Amino acid sequence: ASYAASAVGYLTGRPGVCLVVSGPGLIHALGGMANANINCWPLIVIGGSSERNQETMGAFQEFPQAVRISIYGRPGACYVDVPAEFVTFQVNGNSINYKECCLPPPVSMAESSAVCLAVSVIRSAKQPLLVIGKGAAYAHAEGSIRKLVEQCKLPFLPTPMGKGVVPDNHLNCVGAARSRALQLADVIVLFGARLNWILHFGLPPRYQPDVKFIQIDICAEELGNNVKPAVTLLGDINAVTKQELASKTSLPMNYYTVFYHVQEQLPKDCFVVSEGANTMDIGRTVLQNYLPRHRLDAGTFGTMGVGLGFAIAAALVAKDRSPGQRVVCVEGDSAFGFSGMEMETICRYNLPIIVLVVNNNGIYQGVDADTWKKMVEFQDAATVAPPMCLLPNSHYEQVMTAFGGKGYFVQTPEELQKSLKQALEDTANPSLINILIEPQSTRKAQDFHWLTRSNM
Ligand code: ADP
Ligand code: MG
Repeated sequence: ASYAASAVGYLTGRPGVCLVVSGPGLIHALGGMANANINCWPLIVIGGSSERNQETMGAFQEFPQAVRISIYGRPGACYVDVPAEFVTFQVNGNSINYKECCLPPPVSMAESSAVCLAVSVIRSAKQPLLVIGKGAAYAHAEGSIRKLVEQCKLPFLPTPMGKGVVPDNHLNCVGAARSRALQLADVIVLFGARLNWILHFGLPPRYQPDVKFIQIDICAEELGNNVKPAVTLLGDINAVTKQELASKTSLPMNYYTVFYHVQEQLPKDCFVVSEGANTMDIGRTVLQNYLPRHRLDAGTFGTMGVGLGFAIAAALVAKDRSPGQRVVCVEGDSAFGFSGMEMETICRYNLPIIVLVVNNNGIYQGVDADTWKKMVEFQDAATVAPPMCLLPNSHYEQVMTAFGGKGYFVQTPEELQKSLKQALEDTANPSLINILIEPQSTRKAQDFHWLTRSNM
């Protein structure tokens, strides 16, 4: 009965109640109570035989408290001792007033600086892995965890009772390669799973010696058990996962996020013109071409300053040959600087070109506005700013609006999706979408050292 009552607690989030007689009843219920406690499942056991007003009865042993204790904080078993004469008491049924004895557990979120840190550790991981435990199942975090898995394309591994939080047949489930996934991961995020024997205590040889753990748990005492985590997130799994999702999108985008959202919307027959450093290199691998002679970029000279002229040519050719066909010109911010004044030409001829400026405040890498400000305060920018830096957060879209075209300044994937949709629907006007990305964003690490330079 106590095993059954504890499973009710796990499945419903409210404690099951197990009523036992004293002596053998309570003794045999102990197994179920221990099991509930170690599983972090709420359970109330009512038993006891002590006389009223004896030492063993404290004022706290009352029912509403028992429910609260079993489900608040880390869930677990709670024992209520009732005095012997309760068993034979007469109660008038009508006088019983059932009230909701306690509210659902309060939902706590993790510290926001820890969430930012966790997101940046996940972002810089080469082989990240999410481990989904029964805490995630109990927390009903399936919706948010699935979103995180899918939006960030993260592989996941369920523990035995974490199975099904995200379905086992999901493409990102690495359950079939469990040992290998644990062994090769460089960052592991624990969603309500303890580093106990089920997860080999988080230690080598089952894990990389320098693997970084990010631990999400509602129980502070659990954080840091067996290994020293890189980041600890104390809070409710569902709430913390939502925090991570929010912080992921409010942080500056990187090249891959930008091109992923651009690729989703580009018409298959469009011309793609591109120039820049990382913008062109990374863009080429993500943006697809389906037709011959529809991509124009730095070419044999590997030069810059050619893109906007190419885009104008492509738009004029398209206008003649197949009206409605679009030209999308993907420029780095420094590449745009070579011939940005062609916005005037584009507006003068009223060519509905869509110019995307992928703006990282520099050539290869820039700095953010705060760092720039500190550099300028420290000494004048001409001497301290690296020569590859451009002014941070420049409003290139205003170069387009200066001549009557449409300009968009975007910082989030949602803004990018929306502005690109509008630009594609607007077949009458040129547009420029200025997309701010992380200034330090780079290509993903290359496996071959000869690929680490640009234009390759
Ligand atoms: P598994 O056996 O699947 O590895 P464990 O029982 O070891 O899972 O770990 C479950 C963890 O989930 C416990 O440490 C518990 O404190 C935690 N937990 C339970 N409910 C929540 C919740 N709502 N939010 C965050 N952590 C929770
Ligand atoms: Mg740049």
